[in-house]
Amino acid sequence: MSLCEGCHAGCCRSFAVPVTGADILRIERDLGLDFWSFVCRWADPDGNIAHRYAPQFRFEDEPEMPFVVCLQHAESRYFPQTTMCQFLAEQAPDEEHPLGTAHCGIYGSRPAACRVFPAKFNDTEDLAILHDVPSHGRGGQDEVYSLCPRPWTPQDVDPLEVLPNLAVAKYEMQFFHYLAAAWNRAPKAWSLFPDFLRVVYANRVAVQTSREAADDGEVARLAAESAMSVVTASAPERQAA
Ligand code: SF4
Ligand code: SF4
Repeated sequence: MSLCEGCHAGCCRSFAVPVTGADILRIERDLGLDFWSFVCRWADPDGNIAHRYAPQFRFEDEPEMPFVVCLQHAESRYFPQTTMCQFLAEQAPDEEHPLGTAHCGIYGSRPAACRVFPAKFNDTEDLAILHDVPSHGRGGQDEVYSLCPRPWTPQDVDPLEVLPNLAVAKYEMQFFHYLAAAWNRAPKAWSLFPDFLRVVYANRVAVQTSREAADDGEVARLAAESAMSVVTASAPERQAA
């Protein structure tokens, strides 16, 4: 049985889950959801959410505050005044499971960060290393924020899935860092962010015309800059509407 089966999913309650543009667009497409129904920006003045993993974005309304783009949280049905990822499907506590059980309600479309937890690459990126998961996440010692019931072992992880998942997670987060760099050069309103993403990712497939154009960073930079010009040009129309 998987370590996560029968767990109350403290991980999905404890952490703000940073998402990439690819995660967002996949959830929108697979589940028919609107950006504003599941994405939020979390203020991250201390860098605790970005955690040297996700990019921080700046926005026109609070230019001094760094934000991380994350999944929205919602209040738990069974543990009032605690929150959890809004996609977590909770089952009621019972004698055997005093914290209830829970599973991801969007498992097939879940973000890359969720797919790889608690693994990361080793330095040479040919092995998956399991993080030492702490006993509790945010929320101190509140039991609902307790994490895994025992330490993870290599036998808990599918070796055929974890490395490709880590590679995709790393690639997509790197691409998102490029976008953040382009966006932060001239931050716009948060309301323009979904359009920015749509334009960038729609331009992510190109016919190779030169060696330079095949470079990841260059493609990302060009896509982001073209998106910036589109959202900037459309901003007055939006405000007038
Ligand atoms: S998307 Fe799924 S796996 Fe990720 S935090 Fe939310 S409920 Fe948990
Ligand atoms: S807290 Fe640990 S065991 Fe429980 S669902 Fe999350 S990763 Fe799995």
